[in-house]
Amino acid sequence: MISTKAYAAQSKTTPLAPFIFFRRNVKESDVHIEILFCGVCHSDIHQARDEWGGAMYPMVPGHEIVGKIISIGEKVTNFKIGETVGVGVMIDSCRECKNCKNDLEQYCDEGITGTYNAIERDGKTVAQGGYSNQIVVDEKYVLHISDKLDLSAAAPLLCAGITTYSPLRYAGVTKGMKVGVIGLGGLGHMAVKFAVAFGAEVTVLSTSPHKETDAKKLGAHQFLLTTDENQMASYKRYFNVLLDAVSANHNYTKYLDLLDIDGKLLVVGLPQEQPKVSPFSLITNRRSIIGSMIGGIKETQEMHDFCALHNIVSEVEVIPMNAINEAYERMIKGDVKYRFVIDTSTL
Ligand code: NAP
Ligand code: ZN
Ligand code: ZN
Repeated sequence: MISTKAYAAQSKTTPLAPFIFFRRNVKESDVHIEILFCGVCHSDIHQARDEWGGAMYPMVPGHEIVGKIISIGEKVTNFKIGETVGVGVMIDSCRECKNCKNDLEQYCDEGITGTYNAIERDGKTVAQGGYSNQIVVDEKYVLHISDKLDLSAAAPLLCAGITTYSPLRYAGVTKGMKVGVIGLGGLGHMAVKFAVAFGAEVTVLSTSPHKETDAKKLGAHQFLLTTDENQMASYKRYFNVLLDAVSANHNYTKYLDLLDIDGKLLVVGLPQEQPKVSPFSLITNRRSIIGSMIGGIKETQEMHDFCALHNIVSEVEVIPMNAINEAYERMIKGDVKYRFVIDTSTL
């Protein structure tokens, strides 16, 4: 067993605190990774605070992991010791169902094995995440990461990156399309970068007026303050695609009304409460709401390779491990530009 240093939540109300636990030994198809950086996703807060139900404690969050391989199992074929790699939101799936066979493991019939807040498929190992100094993962769920990228800024690609890349690709976002990104946070700012890179005309829809300058710096062409009813009215029936990356409870209807004929509302944000949707807003303009969850391993590698080619990374604020509780409070207030990333050498 591998003694591992980490930060864990012991209950939904306790702050994260130092925690030592044992990783399982390296099996024949595993890679053993020394973690360098781990991004902080709003899903970490939702789960550490049990906002979705079913949380398992102690919980070591973290699913935007970048590190170096320090050892490999004897049957590993795709990776070498010393290589830079990444681990995202899933570490396993059934590998047999239709979706797993079609590179859509994130929609596995049996459900994915999450990187943390989950039990591995042996039925006993508690999966713990990247707020730790090392991790052991089957090579099939590990990504190659380019050393050309700033590794702290590449870590958020493993969740925020793929979660926005995948639905924008699925919706066929391309040159000339009008795309709106709702919520300029960790996911939202990556969505802006991708939609701009795909050639779309991009608008940021935000509740925070002070984010306008940053939205434009990220490449957005327009900024729409969603709390201003006059501005909202002027964008009625305007967009082809809206990507909703909001973490807080909100109503979908006011955004649906902004969609043009056949417009799509791509939902990735996962607030605690069920949102309200007016069927009248849906039938008008033949609009649709499409959910999307991270991306398969093949598409995640494709997204990373696209980022390495176009030098796309996240805007990050690197923090020491002991600043995590303050980082959570700042994220809830929307005070992050635009992803916190933990330097795990500070553990
Ligand atoms: P984040 O960095 O905290 O950003 C969330 C953004 O939501 C904020 O920056 C803010 O943007 C906006 N917002 C906050 N309160 C709002 C309100 N009351 N009304 C409207 N907008 C509000 O969070 P994140 O890490 O990007 O995650 C976003 C959501 O995606 C979370 O729910 C997370 O669990 C989910 N998620 C889903 C997947 C998936 O596979 N589908 C993967 C990862 C994360 P403005 O200040 O611009 O308004
Ligand atoms: Zn995430
Ligand atoms: Zn499956």
